[in-house]
Amino acid sequence: MPTCQLCGQNSDELKKTNVEGAVLKVCNDCTDMGKVIEKSKVKKKKKRRRTRTRRKDQVLASNYGEKVKSARESRKLSISELADKLNEKNSLIKKVERGELKPDKTLASKLSNALEITLYVNPEVSDYDTPSKGDTRKATLGDVAELKD
Ligand SMILES: [Zn+2]
Repeated sequence: MPTCQLCGQNSDELKKTNVEGAVLKVCNDCTDMGKVIEKSKVKKKKKRRRTRTRRKDQVLASNYGEKVKSARESRKLSISELADKLNEKNSLIKKVERGELKPDKTLASKLSNALEITLYVNPEVSDYDTPSKGDTRKATLGDVAELKD
């Protein structure tokens, strides 16, 4: 018969209990003295959140309209030609180019393939995509000013 490590009483049901930092096998009467340790195998929680950082949560480039328009123009395609090519409506392409409509991933990938541009970008990558580390602050301010123009 196992005995409780706290009170010495014989008991069939001893529970692993953390009593002031020491793990003891105690009877039911003594579990109140500490914190019962549950069997950990089942309850083990995965605390790692690696998936979150690894997953590529790509976001639509903020200047997607501009990108589409300039890529289309550099290919000397009219809006209707591009629309035909993608099997989409002219009005849809126009809206995208004006930044009035955010293309979903399907449309974005069609546009990307047709124009060889990237519309969905990885935010982490673009943040670190600054070529020179020396004077980044000035460069960033300049870029922002240009975009606002
Ligand atoms: Zn006891």
